[in-house]
Amino acid sequence: MKIAVIGLGFVGLSLTSVLASKGNNVIGIDVDVEKCKKIRSGIAPFFEPDLEKMLRIGLKKKLTITDDFSLVKDCDMIFVAAGTPQKSNGAIELSMIKKAVTSIGRVLAKSKKSPIVLIKSTVIPGTMQNVILPILERRSGKKAGREFGLISNPEFLQESSAIRDTKFPHVIVLGGYQTKFMKKAKSFFSKLHPNVSITITNHQTAEMIKYANNSFLATKISFINQLSNICQNIPGANIDDIAKTIGLDPRIGALFLNAGPGYGGSCLPKDMKALINFADRIGTNPTLLNAVEKTNQNQMENIISLIEKKLGKIASKRITILGTAFKPNTDDVRDSIAIELIKKLLKKKAKITIYDPKAMRNTMKIFEGKIVYAKSITDALNKSQCAIMMIHWKQFEALNNNSIKHMKRKFIIDCRRILSKKELDAEYYAIGIGKKE
Ligand code: NAD
Repeated sequence: MKIAVIGLGFVGLSLTSVLASKGNNVIGIDVDVEKCKKIRSGIAPFFEPDLEKMLRIGLKKKLTITDDFSLVKDCDMIFVAAGTPQKSNGAIELSMIKKAVTSIGRVLAKSKKSPIVLIKSTVIPGTMQNVILPILERRSGKKAGREFGLISNPEFLQESSAIRDTKFPHVIVLGGYQTKFMKKAKSFFSKLHPNVSITITNHQTAEMIKYANNSFLATKISFINQLSNICQNIPGANIDDIAKTIGLDPRIGALFLNAGPGYGGSCLPKDMKALINFADRIGTNPTLLNAVEKTNQNQMENIISLIEKKLGKIASKRITILGTAFKPNTDDVRDSIAIELIKKLLKKKAKITIYDPKAMRNTMKIFEGKIVYAKSITDALNKSQCAIMMIHWKQFEALNNNSIKHMKRKFIIDCRRILSKKELDAEYYAIGIGKKE
């Protein structure tokens, strides 16, 4: 069996590497020639724990990395994991996936195989039926369900645990018609992930499952953030004790209850916006989803208000941002709250210094010479008038009175309560902990 994976980003490269490391005959395809070159030489183009190790094992077995779509012609399964970013109005941008399936269709036209095309990219309900299927049938001159299979197969991995999640998914979703191709896909996944539940449904439900998943997670985050704001006004109240305790209730669950500066990253913000835009378009007013988004935006405004309350005018104040990736253990800064916060503070003419253990290069691509890039935490805090800890990198736990001694004003906003148990000689504010006056 030959497997192609189209689009070698977080989702596609993780899948490619895991499948290849298990000895499958895999062809990873991306339009980015430089990216392909890097991957071929065993270097992951972004930081993701264990990815490089898995990739190198795969490269020693039967893995080919290329920008040449014609190799798809001998494949039995073709996974598509091209990006689906958002437009300025929040709607989903389908140009990359349209191009990818157009290329697949052209190759299918000349192929003798009857492969299964599986769409892993997140797409709004109706995209398979109304966009992807017509492109594939038109370009290939073949009929879906008879000459090739077409299955919605949304992905649920999280960056920073992408390899583990790809190896051990919590569920497999297969959407489409009940054809011989669906049977084959089911058998493939049951062998690959024995004991993992498989949901078989239609295309539009499979597409909606992905949005239901991410919008629920975003709702949990905005819920705990709103509670953390209430706690901040109850002297001595601690959001972590509350989150830990309600998380023990099996009806609630412990994950995604970590209060902070709001959700960011390459998925939750864009998927929320796409779902809201879609709901509006089909005539359903998404009141709860709108409130979740608004709560998320307010979270960052609250940080800015606190800075202004303490420092007065922000212009020419030296502010340090610790952590610019959208979460720890990744170098991904797409839609990171820290990046949005820096943009807002720069508009107010603050002087920004940043430090992140992995995301310096990606942050530099955005801000170039507009901010200062420190070599260490201590370096970042030197002469600073305010430090904001945005995400919980393990390294930040070592911060102590010695590391802050050269701050011009020892004013710290700890969005993740990393230092809440330390006796710091500083004006210390932790999101979700009521300050005892
Ligand atoms: P990414 O931006 O990291 O990677 C996408 C890749 O597709 C890039 O390497 C790009 O060069 C390539 N590409 C673009 N157009 C192409 C084309 N026509 N042919 C071949 N390759 C092409 O994206 P990602 O984060 O891996 O996400 C991919 C999809 O999976 C998105 O729809 C996303 O919403 C979804 N998803 C992402 C995550 C995540 O945590 N990143 C999790 C679940 C689902």
